[in-house]
Amino acid sequence: MNTEGDAMLREPIKKSSESWVVQPNLTDYETTCNSFVWDEVLRELDQLPDGKGLNIAHEAVDRHAQGAAGERVAFRWLGSDGAVRKYSYSELKRQSSRFANVLKSLELGKGDTTCVLAGRIPELYIAALGAFKNRSIFCPLFSAFGPEPVFQRLSRGDARILVTTERQYRQKVAQFREGLPNLRHVLLVDVKEHLQDGLLSFSRMMSEASDEFSIPPTSPEDMAALHFTSGTTGMPKGAVHVHDAVLTHYITGKYVLDFHPGDVFWCTADPGWVTGTSYGIIAPLLHGITNIIDEADFDAERWYRILASQKVNVWYTAPTAIRRLMRIGIEPRLRYDLSNLRLIHSVGEPLNPEAVVWGEKALGLPIHDNWWQTETGGIMISNFPSMEIRPGSMGRPLPGVEAAVVRRVGKERVEIIEEPNVQGELALKPGWPSMFRGYLHDEERYRKSFVSGWYLTGDLARRDKDGYFWFVGRADDIIKTAGHMVGPFEVESTLLEHPAVAEAGVIGKPDPLIGELVKAFVALKPGIQATEDLRLELIGFARKRLGSAVAPKEIEFQSNLPKNKAGKIMRRLLKARELGLPEGDLSTLEMDE
Ligand code: ATP
Ligand code: MG
Repeated sequence: MNTEGDAMLREPIKKSSESWVVQPNLTDYETTCNSFVWDEVLRELDQLPDGKGLNIAHEAVDRHAQGAAGERVAFRWLGSDGAVRKYSYSELKRQSSRFANVLKSLELGKGDTTCVLAGRIPELYIAALGAFKNRSIFCPLFSAFGPEPVFQRLSRGDARILVTTERQYRQKVAQFREGLPNLRHVLLVDVKEHLQDGLLSFSRMMSEASDEFSIPPTSPEDMAALHFTSGTTGMPKGAVHVHDAVLTHYITGKYVLDFHPGDVFWCTADPGWVTGTSYGIIAPLLHGITNIIDEADFDAERWYRILASQKVNVWYTAPTAIRRLMRIGIEPRLRYDLSNLRLIHSVGEPLNPEAVVWGEKALGLPIHDNWWQTETGGIMISNFPSMEIRPGSMGRPLPGVEAAVVRRVGKERVEIIEEPNVQGELALKPGWPSMFRGYLHDEERYRKSFVSGWYLTGDLARRDKDGYFWFVGRADDIIKTAGHMVGPFEVESTLLEHPAVAEAGVIGKPDPLIGELVKAFVALKPGIQATEDLRLELIGFARKRLGSAVAPKEIEFQSNLPKNKAGKIMRRLLKARELGLPEGDLSTLEMDE
């Protein structure tokens, strides 16, 4: 491990109370952290009547639907074809109750896995909330998965029912149906009548079901969702989540996303990934605000238009999308009215300092990075709205979450690295409510994630003297070169500072002399030629900033870097290809690289 200074590529972005449009919910971080007790979050929620426990759907929908808030818009759905549909809280209550009754009528109940394989259509959201009500397990399957990954997840997740479209079913599921004996029912959202036993019409079932449903007693420890990880480092893992997670969803909505009454929120993540469920469905509803759902895929013009026309106040997106917007190189601020936008957040991959600062220039607001994983169920480390942003840092731990940088001492023990700026593994103290309760069918892997009372995240980070955490890389991606430990993120961020570079992915390539040499794969901005001169210029540029030990020795141009369907650069694939090794599980690879 090497010790580094606070090597910041960009100056901190100060915040002052004069610039606040609304006062953030969290203004005194230290005091809030010191007095924070998870149980007290319950007081801001409702809980089921008569001590019947805690259910996500009750907190997200039913409690708002009763009373004046019932007519407030919960979802504003924007169809790819231009259609707009609004769902009030009371409408959402009725629809989700109908779906809960559908599940019940099919004799599905507590613990039965309800998979949804569909794009961002309203039925997906209704099915998720209905499944929570019925204490069934919601398991989203990303709609762009091919047949094999869909089969894998249906089978490993022990799906009892699948909600999907006819086309998805015929293309991806029908041929495997016999191999899925537990999948008793498939509900097609776009057929009007039942087709055969086990292949039913969603709308028919819904129209025959009552829109009144009394949520049965739900223990906070009852399983609520099954989320597969993104498959960036290997075979996707199934993370088990429970209803208690709602406390994290609520408090991160309050302190990180900083929801205020009347807000319009847009989370661009698909519910096929945990962000699209925890924050694309649950958290905004918990706060009774309006959630935008866009059915269409990324399109820069469309996105800017949505931000402007929907008057989005809080926007949650990802580095891959931000880099794509940066690549286009327009000044959106001059063309769109983004004056309602108050906060921009990003998650999923490291957010390069260049991108944080680009936000300020192009959108009028810096981008707030936050860190979490499928396993943590909700945001754990964040740049809070009231706090200075240090571009390139993930921010500070959520009140109620204890994070540390640790080093392993043998197999059975870790110790905390107290000294600032020393890199080690990022660890969290178990106890936050949305922590995963298991890896599906992999008890041993789950057990091994906990050492000396810490959950080890598999990410490397360092903590500066003020408690800001800095992402270094995935433990698997770390490069050992000539006695140094080099994190790919730092090298990638430096390359991104060069005006010609759109994307960078950095790996360690075995080298007989220095162990591994740093190799960078670079995608250039549109219209820029990949010449030998530019290659040498980039090597020189990186050397000047990083020093020769850390700067890439080799740079290779590619028109696009391989990413998974969650939009993350797959360094393991860059490495496997470089070394001519087997490419491993490719079920989540985005094919149009
Ligand atoms: P798999 O576990 O299957 O390899 P994955 O880790 O990409 O896939 P997710 O749970 O979706 O699956 O992603 C969590 C990981 O994404 C984190 O462990 C971290 O490596 C990365 N990540 C998320 N947010 C950030 C961030 N703000 N900065 C840096 N890395 C981030
Ligand atoms: Mg992971």
